[in-house]
Amino acid sequence: MSDAMPLNFAAHGFQPQCFALVPCAGVGERAGVGGPKQYHPVAGRPMVAHTLAALAAVPRLSATLVVLSPGDEAFARLLPHFEGERGWVTRTGGATRAHSVAAGLDELVARGAQPHDWVLVHDAARCLLQPAWVQRLIDACDHDEVGGLLALPLADTLKEAVPGSSPARVQATVSRAGKWAAQTPQMFRIGLLRPALLTALADEDTAAGITDEASAIEHLGHAPQLVPGDWANFKVTWPGDFALAERLLQLQP
Ligand code: C5P
Repeated sequence: MSDAMPLNFAAHGFQPQCFALVPCAGVGERAGVGGPKQYHPVAGRPMVAHTLAALAAVPRLSATLVVLSPGDEAFARLLPHFEGERGWVTRTGGATRAHSVAAGLDELVARGAQPHDWVLVHDAARCLLQPAWVQRLIDACDHDEVGGLLALPLADTLKEAVPGSSPARVQATVSRAGKWAAQTPQMFRIGLLRPALLTALADEDTAAGITDEASAIEHLGHAPQLVPGDWANFKVTWPGDFALAERLLQLQP
């Protein structure tokens, strides 16, 4: 455990707000759609529109901040009505997801968010999000000293490949016991996540391993709560994922 203790503001009677932060500044190379995957149409709408609709349907969220890359022109064209009292945008996305999230946290603070307020960071590309899952995370973490994330216990047997092998060949079977696959949203106090990300990003060796918010928090010695998520909350990443996401969205009420 590091010297930076979790911030137990609830014990002092503060009423924290909850903000959603959606990093949306990626290029999505693995998706193979010839442009940022978050704008690719899924079930008749740009993927990120489904994501933002789910977040907008969670009353406990005061606002959702979308972090775009500085040159982004597509968002305003595709979602012209998003910006408003509960829909905020910043064009300060960075080179990696962690940099984009860190820039988003700066923007939330500039807009008045306090250290004891919660931020729920959610990938734009997890477009099957259900408001009930967000509420489940909030209910589980609201009184947690550290915060937590939606995640799923691993069902598949895990293989490690021989580095550089083509076709890929198994080097080892990795025990799946006690292993979870991290999803988003990930919910932490702004006053804990902001310094955690800045500390992790300041060290080049650490920065590459910060692929989610929880890893930055863990780096400080804290143990985020694993809140059971849903298999349908997958991140649209590979070309075949779009068709699956579309079929599942069409089944939603
Ligand atoms: O590329 P990946 O699927 O891991 O991206 C996860 C999320 O992070 C996506 O919503 C993507 O737009 C966002 N991202 C970002 N800035 C980057 C890289 C990714 O906001 N530089």
